[in-house]
Amino acid sequence: MNAVACGGLAEVNPGQRPLFSYLESTEAEGRGFHPSDGAAGGMGVYPERNKLWYNGGNGIREVKKLQDVALKRVGIMGGTFDPIHYGHLVAAEAARVAFQLEPVLFVPNRLPPHKKDYPVTEAKHRYLMTVLATITNPHFEVSRVELDREGYSYTIDTLRELRASFGPNVELYFISGADAILDLLSWKDVDELLGLCYFIAATRPGYKLSVELGHLTQRYARKVFKVEVPALAISSTDIRRRVKEGKSIKYLLPEPVENYIYKHKLYRT
Ligand code: NAP
Repeated sequence: MNAVACGGLAEVNPGQRPLFSYLESTEAEGRGFHPSDGAAGGMGVYPERNKLWYNGGNGIREVKKLQDVALKRVGIMGGTFDPIHYGHLVAAEAARVAFQLEPVLFVPNRLPPHKKDYPVTEAKHRYLMTVLATITNPHFEVSRVELDREGYSYTIDTLRELRASFGPNVELYFISGADAILDLLSWKDVDELLGLCYFIAATRPGYKLSVELGHLTQRYARKVFKVEVPALAISSTDIRRRVKEGKSIKYLLPEPVENYIYKHKLYRT
């Protein structure tokens, strides 16, 4: 049988459709079964029969026609983007394709709560660079939701707002760097956060996220996926340092962003 299994932690291939929230919110939950329980409790899709299945341990049972459970999935690309670069853009595109996200909303933060002791570039510059970088991709949009909110940019506040505006039939996937997501347990209201969205951790190839996630409980780990992004060798920190040292940043980020940096004399000190 040509089934596409979705069980196990965080290994999602392009084209695979994550349909977890449907089962979590219906009879599977009532049975104490979680769809990513692996072989004993897997779930997936029979493409030729257009049905969703799950195995709660007593054999395979078909539950629903695919078209009845297909949800819209929106990507939320959160970041400081100081500056945005090709690593971020390739990560967003890889997540979009793998999870069939439409659109991917880039959400530059206003005041990152975990960088209270580090100065970040003025929000208007980071916002405009994000707009310049994403303008040619019809699937990408930039949201001002965090920029227009006073105070620290807690992801929970953003997810509450976006959840309310998109409504219950949309799954939200928060995309960020693996390093940021590994600190998830310290984020504000993390329990509620994990009820509002899934997480996609952008990693370098070969990065063993499941090992790194060992400090998270199983419940949390099940909500985190990963996408591998070779271009993540590029980093904002390195770009800022290169500008300060007068080195070239060509081909690390889109040319309009490079020009913006020079025009506004960013990262010189
Ligand atoms: P960060 O801590 O500066 O980033 C950690 C690593 O992940 C860096 O290597 C960074 O590379 C990379 N990275 C960051 N965002 C990425 C993205 N969207 N795609 C791919 N790689 C990414 O992260 P940050 O940008 O400040 O924060 C990430 C998101 O988490 C933001 O939306 C932030 O507000 C949120 N966050 C929320 C809380 C909270 O609510 N308490 C706490 C921490 C973070 P670069 O340096 O090259 O970007």
